[in-house]
Amino acid sequence: KQEGRNTFRLFRPEMHQQEHRRLELETALRNTAETGEGLAVHYQPLFDRDSGELQGAEALLRWHHPQFGQVSPADFIPLAERSGLILPLGERLMHLVAGQLRDWLADGLTPPRIAVNLSARQFWQSDLVAQVQELYAAYGLPPGQIGFELTESLLLDKHQQAIHTLQALRELDCFIAIDDFGTGYSSLSYLQELPVTTLKIDRSFIQKLGESRGSAAIVAAVTGLAKELGLRVVAEGVETEAQLAALSRYHVTLIQGYLTGHPVDAETFANHYLDTQRV
Ligand code: C2E
Ligand code: CA
Ligand code: CA
Ligand code: CA
Repeated sequence: KQEGRNTFRLFRPEMHQQEHRRLELETALRNTAETGEGLAVHYQPLFDRDSGELQGAEALLRWHHPQFGQVSPADFIPLAERSGLILPLGERLMHLVAGQLRDWLADGLTPPRIAVNLSARQFWQSDLVAQVQELYAAYGLPPGQIGFELTESLLLDKHQQAIHTLQALRELDCFIAIDDFGTGYSSLSYLQELPVTTLKIDRSFIQKLGESRGSAAIVAAVTGLAKELGLRVVAEGVETEAQLAALSRYHVTLIQGYLTGHPVDAETFANHYLDTQRV
């Protein structure tokens, strides 16, 4: 009976509509991946928790389509991952970021380190390390200017190979953050084998910090472990002064969230955060 009902649901007209929209969106995304039209990068600042200094920014992809309008990354990134379009899109993003950094440096500004999100397909590309190396060379970027954010589930697969790739990226001076930390299935012990520099605590824990004892326990465990292992910790999704205050008792290095700065376009980012350092 259960199965029969599920099978029937597959043929509901609204399912056709959803599928139709998904296909339309995928076709549009394919064109965008080819031309780069409508793609932009927003930058969200990361601040040192104790000194308040700008310490980095996360590059976040934005897509505007003439027909669909602004499409959320929550919609198009999963689609890009499923379809493989994340590879050309990710490559475009890296070139946009590197070009932006080169321009800022040429203008005499001092941009902070920029973190780029890598999805599984990108990380497991055989020539990722070579690509990154070429990027640094082509844009004349100083070592360590670009780093990466990866999810823990990605690193659980093919553990030894992951370590190997991470090591190669570290040799290029790239910093490596584990994103959305605490939401995956990783045993904490496997962490010590990974040559990563930073843990980003998922915002779900930050947002429940004051309300749920479980979240506080996870934040305490993660930050304690990070301290032991000599890793930097980013608290992401910090929205309120209360959350910031609640974090004060833990080993947290960096703060990222709406409280300290929304993701903004490159020009706004430079005006807000880089202007004062102009030579
Ligand atoms: P993420 O890597 O966890 O990125 C952080 C997301 O949290 C961003 O959403 C950011 O705008 C949002 N955020 C930052 N501070 C706050 C806050 O204080 N409160 C709340 N509620 N949200 C906050 P965004 O830009 O919509 O990106 C969503 C996800 O899409 C990202 O999650 C990331 O997984 C993916 N994504 C975005 N750009 C890229 C990209 O270039 N490549 C890949 N592979 N994935 C990307
Ligand atoms: Ca991220
Ligand atoms: Ca995150
Ligand atoms: Ca996330």
